[in-house]
Amino acid sequence: SKGWYKEVIQILHAKFGLNSFRPNQAEAINETLSGQDVVVLMPTGGGKSLCYQLPALVKSGTTKGTTIVISPLISLMEDQVYHLKNLNIKAEMVNSKLDADTRSEVISTLVKGELELVYISPEMLSISRVMQMALQTMYDKHILARIVIDEAHCVSAWGHDFRPDYMALTKVKNDYPGIPIMALTATANNQVLLDIVNCARPNPLVLKQSFNRTNLLYEVRKKGPKVVNEIAEICLNYGGKSGIIYCRSKKDCETTAEKLRSHGVSAEHYHAGLDSETRSKVQKNWQESRTHVVCATIAFGMGIDKPDVRYVIHMSMPQNMEGYYQETGRAGRDGRMSKVYLFYKFGEYLNIRRMILEEQEVQRDIREHKASLLLKVMQYCENTVDCRRKQVLQYFNETFDSRLCEMKCDNCVAMRGQTVVCQDVTELAKD
Ligand code: ADP
Ligand code: MG
Ligand code: ZN
Repeated sequence: SKGWYKEVIQILHAKFGLNSFRPNQAEAINETLSGQDVVVLMPTGGGKSLCYQLPALVKSGTTKGTTIVISPLISLMEDQVYHLKNLNIKAEMVNSKLDADTRSEVISTLVKGELELVYISPEMLSISRVMQMALQTMYDKHILARIVIDEAHCVSAWGHDFRPDYMALTKVKNDYPGIPIMALTATANNQVLLDIVNCARPNPLVLKQSFNRTNLLYEVRKKGPKVVNEIAEICLNYGGKSGIIYCRSKKDCETTAEKLRSHGVSAEHYHAGLDSETRSKVQKNWQESRTHVVCATIAFGMGIDKPDVRYVIHMSMPQNMEGYYQETGRAGRDGRMSKVYLFYKFGEYLNIRRMILEEQEVQRDIREHKASLLLKVMQYCENTVDCRRKQVLQYFNETFDSRLCEMKCDNCVAMRGQTVVCQDVTELAKD
């Protein structure tokens, strides 16, 4: 085996306090330490961070110096850097939220080669001359170890979370020849994957694992006028367990939380319209299980790592299957049984569709593409025959034998179940 094997295991135990690797982590680490480009497709919660955080600390690989991580959200960055510093790892970040002094301080430490990892926002990389020069200097000094593109689906206009600043990342492979690239994401259909692979050099190793979340129960319901009562009933059934309710608008978040409270559910709302202090307070209350339910827009959740979310409810249909997968994926990260509910109605589909097609600032073919992604969600909702799991996985080009669902979705129960097995997970959640 490779010369760094012992050191890798030692760091896994001593620095990260973990016993063993999860699927594909060892492969990704090995490959990047040999200097290969790697694309990692791993479900949310699968452990993508370790794939680049661990090799950043290895001294015996073929790469030396600092690992650069591009990450789309400042809150994600803060979270990770905080966590790494707690583990006594030399990590910093460079983004627009830092004041100029702190920023140049970090950059000078970086150029001296004193950091193990640095998180950089994509706009810093694409517009900051100082940043670009720093990276060039590091490259010339041979202290640029590797470039990591986290949440790599953001490079693709075909994905659900395109960020124009990420486009610059397709050319880092040319700007820094020979520096290994690692791109990671939880959501990529074939089209998005092509764009991600294009960030790496020809023929990168693509590590892909099943996206099946075996511990999630799926249910889709038609949405009626009493939807909030129905949701309140679900929440109350879970007792004090944690849940997320995704709502379409800020207004929906507020009114739903209020109605739930009137039913005796411990609920708060969260959306981009709140000031950042309130937002972090709501998040913290929920994360520490003081409030049980958050009614939120999809702004809530990225970078949140709460392991014991027992249910996720979409009060309105999501705009695409990728978003649905990612949002439902926040349930059951600890591996225990959890349930996801989706409420939909045709009229609402038409509204969302119209809104998408009327988005002025978006190119026409992209708008139409988005409408076609929405249509797939509608088809998913209306298909009451095929296993939900099979349908979700099909979207990610993964074939799934629905017998393996083991009655953990509403359709399997309706089509093949003798008795109702797909009950709420209240009983499971109690122990
Ligand atoms: P992702 O980015 O793929 O969504 P993270 O990297 O945030 O996932 O990891 C999710 C959780 O899994 C974290 O709490 C992390 O500590 C944990 N984790 C990662 N790798 C391992 C491992 N090999 N053994 C145990 N826990 C792990
Ligand atoms: Mg991640
Ligand atoms: Zn099924």
